[in-house]
Amino acid sequence: MTLDGAYRRTVLAVAGAPLVRGFVTRAGWRLGVGRFVAGESMEQALPALQRIEASGKGIVIDVLGEFVGDEAAARQSAARIRQAMQEAAEHGLEPYFSAKPTQLGLGIDRDLALELATDLAATAAGHQGHLCLDMESSGYVDATLELFERLWEAGHRRISTVLQSYLHRTPEDLERVLARSPVPDLRIVKGAYNEGAAVAHQDKARVERAYRELVYRAFEVGGHVNVATHDERILDEIGAYARGAGFGPERYEFQLLYGVRPGLQDRLAGDGHRLRVYVPFGEDWYGYFSRRLAERPANLAFVVRGLTG
Ligand SMILES: Cc1cc2nc3c(=O)[nH]c(=O)nc-3n(C[C@H](O)[C@H](O)[C@H](O)COP(=O)(O)OP(=O)(O)OC[C@H]3O[C@@H](n4cnc5c(N)ncnc54)[C@H](O)[C@@H]3O)c2cc1C
Repeated sequence: MTLDGAYRRTVLAVAGAPLVRGFVTRAGWRLGVGRFVAGESMEQALPALQRIEASGKGIVIDVLGEFVGDEAAARQSAARIRQAMQEAAEHGLEPYFSAKPTQLGLGIDRDLALELATDLAATAAGHQGHLCLDMESSGYVDATLELFERLWEAGHRRISTVLQSYLHRTPEDLERVLARSPVPDLRIVKGAYNEGAAVAHQDKARVERAYRELVYRAFEVGGHVNVATHDERILDEIGAYARGAGFGPERYEFQLLYGVRPGLQDRLAGDGHRLRVYVPFGEDWYGYFSRRLAERPANLAFVVRGLTG
């Protein structure tokens, strides 16, 4: 395992401890959460969302939540997303949303998740918006792809899902998604969870090679690819390829996270690439925040500063 991999696994393992979770959640925004999370409510996130759209970039709105424990919590979570879709439309924002399937109850009851995802896909479509099903840890990949396919078979087209280049299985999953006609929108990421060698590449260079292979394969088959990474070399290489192939926004866009490499976001948008910023908000920010800390050792410095400052 590389040093990067060891760091990430350690941070995610420590973050999973209930004691750490309790402490960090209580200390809250003092620890720098606001660098990655736009607020705890739509009202708080609104200025950031409006600023991004005013700058000519697009948005992906994520009402934070994951791994709900019962049906009531899943329904509450879906209601919050539905409400945010309504509010986004009222404020003239593009209602392009992303949701975690386990926040809709996928971990407890697949039919419940289908019912709630169906309602959200229809609500998004009703506002000329979009619903992306984020991809979570490897144990949920089969159920997430099945959920996506059931929505697709029911006729929903303003939807997409995500594939992670670190998983060994992903090239096969990609073929499964690309076999559909028309080819669905897909977001390609490296993967953010704590996965062992049995299911995931542990070597950074291998994950990056797999990333490129997935994107080029999706291009080959005619898909619209959401290239979601902050890896400048990959972005520049794929950007140059797309330009050379004469691709416009109907074939690809770049997606980066709120608060991560804002200078790079500006440069890419300034170069004329379609760019979306993934903007999370909500009270359930702990899991999301932990994954951002795990991606870059320097991010822990913010937390330490918050504790000592
Ligand atoms: C729009 C979007 C949606 C995503 N959706 C999912 C999903 O559904 N499922 C999933 O598993 N993962 C998702 N991810 C996360 C993804 O899997 C990676 O964990 C994350 O993007 C970091 O990897 P990287 O591709 O940026 O490359 P890296 O090699 O990790 O990073 C490249 C460079 O970007 C910078 N960088 C990366 N992360 C950070 C950070 N947190 N803070 C500051 N700088 C950073 C560093 O300078 C680094 O050198 C998503 C990412 C994006 C951008």
